[in-house]
Amino acid sequence: MEDSFKIFIEQLREGRTEEIKECFSPAFLQLQEDELHFLDKIAVDGEAYLADDDLVLHLDIDAQCSLPCSICNGAVLKKVNISDFYYTVPVKKIKSGVYDYQKILRETILLETPAFAECNEGKCPQRKQIEKYFKKESSVLSEVEEGYQPFANLDLDKIKKQKF
Ligand SMILES: [Zn+2]
Repeated sequence: MEDSFKIFIEQLREGRTEEIKECFSPAFLQLQEDELHFLDKIAVDGEAYLADDDLVLHLDIDAQCSLPCSICNGAVLKKVNISDFYYTVPVKKIKSGVYDYQKILRETILLETPAFAECNEGKCPQRKQIEKYFKKESSVLSEVEEGYQPFANLDLDKIKKQKF
């Protein structure tokens, strides 16, 4: 467990704000997917502070991922930019006095990551060929367009995302 994900509650007492400015290796996302890759570092900027009995995280997240075009399978680059993400945790739930935001950061990034992409800004050069090929089997085409969700098995149900 990396220390850089940790927020020490004691350091936030008396109205102190901790500035967060980190660049994480994408390894912490622990992706099992073969087709989705995050490139470079994941930049996290923001702050942590206490408001009443809650720890508040306020973050801007910048990342870039590569995933296959759902038509031609070529790599498509997508930015994952999350601005003004707020997350609150009751301090009394942080029994150790140290909050580790790695898990919520991972879930937040994966939730904002597109499930599929098409190259050439949605105009894959091979789209025409595929449309021709599947003309008689329109159900197959709609599967290509809508049904391709390579990351549908990620468990993101537990996300609690709060915006003020
Ligand atoms: Zn393509």
